[in-house]
Amino acid sequence: MEKLDMLYEGKAKQVFKTDDEDKYIIYYKDDATAFNGGKKGEISQKGIINNKVSAVIFNILKKQGIPTHFEKLLSDRESLVKSVEIVPLEVIVRNVAAGSMSKRLGIEEGTILEKPVLEFCYKCDELNDPIINEDHIQALKLASEEEVHIIKAYTKKINEILIVFFKERSLNLIDFKLEFGIHKGEIVLADEISPDTCRLWDVNTNEKMDKDRFRRDLGNIEEAYKEVLSRME
Ligand code: UDP
Repeated sequence: MEKLDMLYEGKAKQVFKTDDEDKYIIYYKDDATAFNGGKKGEISQKGIINNKVSAVIFNILKKQGIPTHFEKLLSDRESLVKSVEIVPLEVIVRNVAAGSMSKRLGIEEGTILEKPVLEFCYKCDELNDPIINEDHIQALKLASEEEVHIIKAYTKKINEILIVFFKERSLNLIDFKLEFGIHKGEIVLADEISPDTCRLWDVNTNEKMDKDRFRRDLGNIEEAYKEVLSRME
């Protein structure tokens, strides 16, 4: 597999074309941003850790019947994935109130939600990824009704699988963000699932083991990411 031109560079990853038009290579960087780029930094080894954590999780989801873009790990920082067109939605699932939900709705962080709360945000940096509903998705033509139906069904199943997966590793899955893409006309799970995109609290100490350590300057960021990876292996 030959790595060709860079197609896209995001905050944490680069995407490269390959000599197979159905495949891309993703390269994971150590760059960290929060608050839509308002806070910038680097987390040493983050790219390596997120590449590996995401690979473990995508393989598990694949085994449980969720179609994903993930093909295989290529190196410490690179994965081979199916080429997809990203649906411009951030699909957020919340099991416990935290972050922007706590702030926006005045719910104390840590409040257990009776059932998972699903949110959609419009992936648009200029607009600050605004929260939207299913009617907005149709109005903006971001996805068809059928695609939204499939995305919701996959998301619900992914949450059920990941709650158990993380609990077995003494981590509470507080919330997380998913992105989907279209490959050959089908919806597939894309992007990454890692401590950058999930809130994970240690079951015993409630310690935050995710990007909130960076967002909130809590220290020991690299150690927390490493610990999450070590619990995957
Ligand atoms: N999230 C993400 N990328 C984003 C926004 C949110 O991965 O651009 C994840 C975040 O890590 C958390 C969940 O989605 O696990 C919910 O985030 P929230 O809406 O509370 O936003 P934040 O507090 O990150 O601003």
